[in-house]
Amino acid sequence: MDEADRGAGPAYVGRYAPSPTGHLHLGNLRTAAIAWARARSVGGRFLVRVEDIDRQRSRPEFEEQQLADLAAIGLDWDGEPVRQSERDSLYDDALRRLPTFPCFCSRKDIQRELAEMGGAPHGAPGAYPGTCRDLSEAARAEKTAELAASGRGPSLRLRADVREWRAEDALHGTIVDAVDDMVLRRADGMWAYNLAVVVDDADQGVTEIVRGDDLLSSAPRQAYLAHLLGAPEPTYAHVPLVVNGEGRRLAKRDGDVTLRDISAGEAQRWILDSLRAGGGAGGEDAVAEGLMGMDLSDVDRIADLPEVFDLMAIPREQVVFR
Ligand SMILES: [Zn+2]
Repeated sequence: MDEADRGAGPAYVGRYAPSPTGHLHLGNLRTAAIAWARARSVGGRFLVRVEDIDRQRSRPEFEEQQLADLAAIGLDWDGEPVRQSERDSLYDDALRRLPTFPCFCSRKDIQRELAEMGGAPHGAPGAYPGTCRDLSEAARAEKTAELAASGRGPSLRLRADVREWRAEDALHGTIVDAVDDMVLRRADGMWAYNLAVVVDDADQGVTEIVRGDDLLSSAPRQAYLAHLLGAPEPTYAHVPLVVNGEGRRLAKRDGDVTLRDISAGEAQRWILDSLRAGGGAGGEDAVAEGLMGMDLSDVDRIADLPEVFDLMAIPREQVVFR
């Protein structure tokens, strides 16, 4: 089977899952458009999920505006968007089905321990050193009481029984990366992103995850969690992010360009241009070298993109917005 056809067809379920912590910038809109066009091009379903587990930073007005912006550039989705803030019971159920242990370490404790050990146990930078994994019941009770005295509680970590896992990515091939005893529920009671995203994708039957390549190294640990939960492991397509003229990734907090700054029509034209041959950072040189890109000569709005969309032709180099 052709790489790009894996998981294609009516059984395909894709998604875009923004956090309502700001307006979507052009890079977010581009990734959303690619995820949408991929799903529609194979006759699949496309879902939008609101990732508002961070209740302090998430705002209903951003959610409303993000959905309006996605619609403004021509995207549509199946069913009502679900919100992570309304799915506590699902995350709680999943947590009960996973092997966990309470962790009493602060970030500083972990850094100190790693420094003393001369690095992470299996070479992954910042990997949890296992401090609380095998504490006795008595030690656990004592540390729980200590934390409780200052009004805090432990985090819950996964008791991982592998050191690495793999995920399949249409653009990057097989990705192998370290898995550690990752946090599943934070000390402040907030669900960890890794848990919520895996539970949601499993619950919603997502078959392929198209998202920015800043999350590439998270894919194996998320696939491992899906495996532990007995869910089918989705495949991935991590697409290059958009950077500014200085090479910095566009970010909501840096006030990068949104539909507050340019029209939906301009945004669509820029996104389509970025998908043409040589539309990435390579410019005309990339065209000359016959690099990736799609023939979009008959496409001038994103709504028509699925007709010619080719996942494998996504330019692989970073895209620069000036
Ligand atoms: Zn710990």
